[in-house]
Amino acid sequence: MPAKIIDGKKIADRILNDIKGKIKSMKEKPGLAIVLVGNNPASEIYVGSKEKDFREVEGYCERHNLDKDTSEFDLMNLVNQLNNNQRIHGILVQLPLPKQIDENLITNSIAPHKDVDGFTSVSLGHLFSGHGIIAPATARAVIHLIESTGIKIEGKNAVVVGRSNIVGKPVAMMLLEKNATVTVCHSKTRNLAEHTKKADILVAAAGKPKLITKEMVKEGAVVIDVGINRVNGKIVGDVDFENVKEVAGFITPVPGGVGPMTIAMLMENTLKAMELAEKARH
Ligand code: NAD
Repeated sequence: MPAKIIDGKKIADRILNDIKGKIKSMKEKPGLAIVLVGNNPASEIYVGSKEKDFREVEGYCERHNLDKDTSEFDLMNLVNQLNNNQRIHGILVQLPLPKQIDENLITNSIAPHKDVDGFTSVSLGHLFSGHGIIAPATARAVIHLIESTGIKIEGKNAVVVGRSNIVGKPVAMMLLEKNATVTVCHSKTRNLAEHTKKADILVAAAGKPKLITKEMVKEGAVVIDVGINRVNGKIVGDVDFENVKEVAGFITPVPGGVGPMTIAMLMENTLKAMELAEKARH
């Protein structure tokens, strides 16, 4: 039987609708600042969707477009201003940043309580010690989509392909937190298929089109495709969707899977950041 398609767009729309309802009843609106340096076309698209969705739920959104030659010093100054701006509850600096800027330095200059991407070392440290408050949006999206199938994560063999600090590692940590037995694979893993074939839950986050083929997937597995790749002008994931859906139990499409859910989780993170700010004030 072909896999059930996990409709990330539909689930995300439901969450966004709930958020909109919550925001409507608030006197002060949650504020998100989005910073984009340069004009990387993919980043412009991501930033555009985040801004559009945040305005649609009627949050307050500020966009800061900086020139590609912006210095590290000037960007740091802007982040500091946003850290001190009470109207802003969440700060998002779109990655990648131009070469002259140290990404790690800038990411870690965001105040942890405004770090709605969950990328600062403080947020990641909280996540890794099991006390995460604001976890990276994509990792949260992955967990949400797995749970939407009704399949329990506890006790399952989960395989994550990719070990970046912003996707692979946080996903692995969150699955571990939910009591899965987790294997993390990466570009130096020998015989990837040997691992992926054992996965009850398979998360592909490598950025390699069609890396995961039908032969690499266990029958009935939950397959979550995080990849966003451009092939001949089309957006595709890391999973050979058409063939893998013949063996998987559940599968996310690209587009329409993890992408829209990531934005919904980012909005939730901004609301959480606002709650944290209010708690700190009282
Ligand atoms: P990255 O390049 O930082 O990391 C890729 C990881 O994949 C690395 O750990 C690498 O070791 C591993 N890898 C690469 N080739 C491999 C191979 N052949 N076999 C096994 N492992 C391999 O990328 P990232 O930032 O983690 O993003 C991963 C993908 O997810 C990209 O396509 C990115 O565009 C996408 N992404 C999607 C969302 C979303 O909202 N849907 C958010 C963030 C990233």
